[in-house]
Amino acid sequence: MPIINRIAEFHDDMTAWRRDFHQHPELNFQEVRTSRIVAEKLREFGCDEVITGIATTGVVGVIHGKGGGRGEGGAIGLRADMDALPIHEESGVPHASTTPGVMHACGHDGHTTMLLGAARYLAETRNFSGTAYMIFQPAEEMGGGGEVMVKEGLFERFPMDRVFGLHNWPGAPEGTFLWRVGPVMAAVADIRITVTGKGAHGAMPHQGNDPIVIAAQIVTALQSIVARNVEPVEGGVVTIGEIKGGNAFNVIPEVVTLRGTARWFLPEVGDILETKVKALASGIAEAFGARAEVQFDRMYPATINEEVSAGLAADAARAVAGEAKVVELPKPTMGGEDFSFMLNAKQGAYLMLGAGRGPQDPQVHHPRYDFNDAILPLGASWWAAMVERQLPRKG
Ligand SMILES: [Zn+2]
Ligand SMILES: [Zn+2]
Repeated sequence: MPIINRIAEFHDDMTAWRRDFHQHPELNFQEVRTSRIVAEKLREFGCDEVITGIATTGVVGVIHGKGGGRGEGGAIGLRADMDALPIHEESGVPHASTTPGVMHACGHDGHTTMLLGAARYLAETRNFSGTAYMIFQPAEEMGGGGEVMVKEGLFERFPMDRVFGLHNWPGAPEGTFLWRVGPVMAAVADIRITVTGKGAHGAMPHQGNDPIVIAAQIVTALQSIVARNVEPVEGGVVTIGEIKGGNAFNVIPEVVTLRGTARWFLPEVGDILETKVKALASGIAEAFGARAEVQFDRMYPATINEEVSAGLAADAARAVAGEAKVVELPKPTMGGEDFSFMLNAKQGAYLMLGAGRGPQDPQVHHPRYDFNDAILPLGASWWAAMVERQLPRKG
């Protein structure tokens, strides 16, 4: 079963939907237009039920199969994300963002479109048993819309056996599915450190205690956490990505702020990173006679693929893309993903779909990134194959 022919016939329609979403990007929990269009299309395709307003702008489309029918033959959930990023688009494409400072730089416009394509096909053909739930979630990038959907009872309202997610991956060749069992994305924390000391004239440093020097010591010391506290075969990252302080060449400021991120897979590694970031920052500041306030906000847990679900997802990928284009990832990535909240509540798996056109391709979160429309029918066919293969029609 290569790309499903009927879905290939939707390629032009899907491209038009995707470019329309791209032109009208919306940030976390503000996906009002996107959510309205998704719900309208699901109704137009003939979904049995379309439920809106979950986690503010989330939508679930319910499609019952012909074989076996409601309540029989099991159920699976397929999830796409709808939100954009606060990045100013520089792609120069004709369908570039019309909203300054907001763009679909992660391809969630493509994810939403691929799941819509699958919904159209599944509602039309219904060649399966049981129920397929099409889950469109808000706020993947910021705000944890996946977590809010789970808290609002996603899996109680829509009982399902497994849930699956897919992300386009411009770093891998177009049309290649990447999968693995176990961790696939890391847990994420947001670190904020405020160092408050005593400012002074730049020529008379002895009259203050310099928070810039203190912040520099903290940044250096934080790099010893993973190197000297985490078991070397385990993964962990502490990165400071932002330093702000001072506004004159000859003045020692009173406050310096640091902002960064921590990543890990094992919960115990997360605990080490949190404890050590706090201890080092406040201890160093105190030793210099200043003070550091440290926030370590855990955003997303690690995304962990359950073994049987990952196998089912890879089998469907082989059926659609062919054996040679399904690659088992040797390692997870340190990127974060809020689908982790769904996988913590329900067994399932998260795959990547290669979208790379060449080595010069901008990667996700780049201002020149644009989703590769060539993979739309492949992703939609994979979703459809997941339903037809996991919920086979009886009789
Ligand atoms: Zn992203
Ligand atoms: Zn993304």
